Amino acid sequence: MSAQLDTPKAKTGFGQPINLNLEITDLCNIKCRMCGQAHNPKVHNLQPNSFMPWAVWKASIDALADYDDEVSLCPHWLGEPCLHPEFDRFLRYAFEHNADNRLFRHFKLHTNGSLLEPDRVDTVLDCANLGTMAEDTFRFVHFSVDAYTPAVYYGIKKYDYGERVYRNIVNLLETRERRGLQWPRVTNAFIVMPENQHEARRFLDYWTHVFDRLGLPFDVVYDWPQHVRDNLYFRRLHQADQPAADRLHRLVLNDLDLLPLDAEGSWIEESF
Ligand code: SF4
Repeated sequence: MSAQLDTPKAKTGFGQPINLNLEITDLCNIKCRMCGQAHNPKVHNLQPNSFMPWAVWKASIDALADYDDEVSLCPHWLGEPCLHPEFDRFLRYAFEHNADNRLFRHFKLHTNGSLLEPDRVDTVLDCANLGTMAEDTFRFVHFSVDAYTPAVYYGIKKYDYGERVYRNIVNLLETRERRGLQWPRVTNAFIVMPENQHEARRFLDYWTHVFDRLGLPFDVVYDWPQHVRDNLYFRRLHQADQPAADRLHRLVLNDLDLLPLDAEGSWIEESF
């Protein structure tokens, strides 16, 4: 658990948004094979790993009133934010005190989705659509999915939560639609790696079917999403042998017709 603010002063003068990560927990309920936190959970040298106390969250949120710079807030750095037992209270407090964006301009949630059950989805949708701040304040929920079948999910994450994650994401999309809401947008991320490359197509087809069924426009991207829409995001794996990860990423994008390669295996530039 940690709180990092780029500057202790009221105004940076940088003239650009401050990205603020208030890490409400450094604990996670799964162990992704590509995650440093999963394999070195004492990365902050805290004993033991912990949850941010309510008083720290409240003071941190309240203090944002002293900053003139545009703040983009994320309750995550390492760890799974929805694991915090007071997640809903934290979220509601931040949004209920953010009228006219007096505290933060943007908010995004990164999660593995396994704990975003229906009650919590209601909290997310309530906060994102309060009507007291700019409508695009709570812009994204970014889901780290990385698999299609439960077996591959288990192989990558070491926990059998695949079906639950899919159910929770579909529920968020359906509930958002049923309530006639647009925010937050959803990014379903699939980090391409040897364990899951063979089911990238099925991941794409499944979520395409869900978005089409709900009549939702969406993008399929292979780099960080640039548009504020629902997204399917085929990410590169970051690892020691980066050229190998990049090659695999390109091959999968080629197979999905997202970014065709020429005969030498180079990007075909026109497709950008
Ligand atoms: S869900 Fe996130 S924090 Fe948890 S192990 Fe996976 S990548 Fe790491």
